[in-house]
Amino acid sequence: MDSIKVFSPGSITNLSCGYDILGVCLQNRGDEITVKKIDKKEIIINSNDDYNISEDINKNVAGIAAQALLKNTKTKFGFEIEIKKGIKPGSGIGSSAASSAGTVFAINQLLDSPFSQMDLIKFSMEGEKFVSGTYHADNVAPIILGGITLVRSIDEIDVIKLPSPKSLEVIIIRPNIEIKTSDSRKVVKNKIKIEKMVQQSANLGSFVSSLYTEDYGLMSKSVVDVIVEPNRRILIPEFDKIKEISKEDGAIAVGISGSGPSIFSLSNNSTVSEKILKSVTNHYEKLNISYDGFISKVNSTGIKIIESN
Ligand code: ADP
Repeated sequence: MDSIKVFSPGSITNLSCGYDILGVCLQNRGDEITVKKIDKKEIIINSNDDYNISEDINKNVAGIAAQALLKNTKTKFGFEIEIKKGIKPGSGIGSSAASSAGTVFAINQLLDSPFSQMDLIKFSMEGEKFVSGTYHADNVAPIILGGITLVRSIDEIDVIKLPSPKSLEVIIIRPNIEIKTSDSRKVVKNKIKIEKMVQQSANLGSFVSSLYTEDYGLMSKSVVDVIVEPNRRILIPEFDKIKEISKEDGAIAVGISGSGPSIFSLSNNSTVSEKILKSVTNHYEKLNISYDGFISKVNSTGIKIIESN
């Protein structure tokens, strides 16, 4: 195989109760990444987007993740990476993760898959570290494994794929502002009260249980953030109102996707999802806030090969 084109999807993370450890792979919105072997032993990036993302291999996460992978193998050739961005950077649905994970997935395929999924997560995390300042695998893990994932450890990468209830849907509304993960992490407090830690641990445990039992009532009580959301909500226009409207329309839970500004709602009924999307987009329209809004099922397969030759 000399060339491969992949679709690397968006993802939502944290899910209110699992800061930095829970992630869900989305079906729509994503980068299209084409990687070709080239004779010269170098990495070239062509980024096809409206966002002024650098093509420097030391500044674009695709180049950073690719170099992390290539340090661990010997090749006689180089790679040309073309990225068609489908996710706006700084939107809270894993724009950088889609590029880094999609690129290392594609290169691994071109090398006949010497690396495991956990290796690919490790290489992708170098890109995440570069843009956000800290290592975290919550976006890259669900894209590489598909479905809903729990990152148990990033020291020695250990990620658990959780069950995805078949009827679970995600409604995303993204006000058109950019929040850099690095900035959004600054409002997160370093110290928390033990009572909050206890409550959040209980929420996370019961959320995981609700995925196994498909108990949406329990899910609704569990997808609650007592630690980060109280500080981050002010960064997002109309967050409280969007939450209220979505709950009124039947959302199971509502929270901040990743570091924002995207807001996610969960639903287990497509009519309810459509209703939520309509209400929240109407609300932003009334206030002249530009937005992107969509509904996605959970993508259980992750990165998809579009063509290869
Ligand atoms: P997101 O959660 O959407 O990935 P981040 O703030 O974590 O948002 O990352 C966005 C930052 O990463 C922007 O400054 C952007 O220029 C930079 N970046 C570098 N390479 C890429 C890439 N291939 N795709 C998206 N963003 C990238």
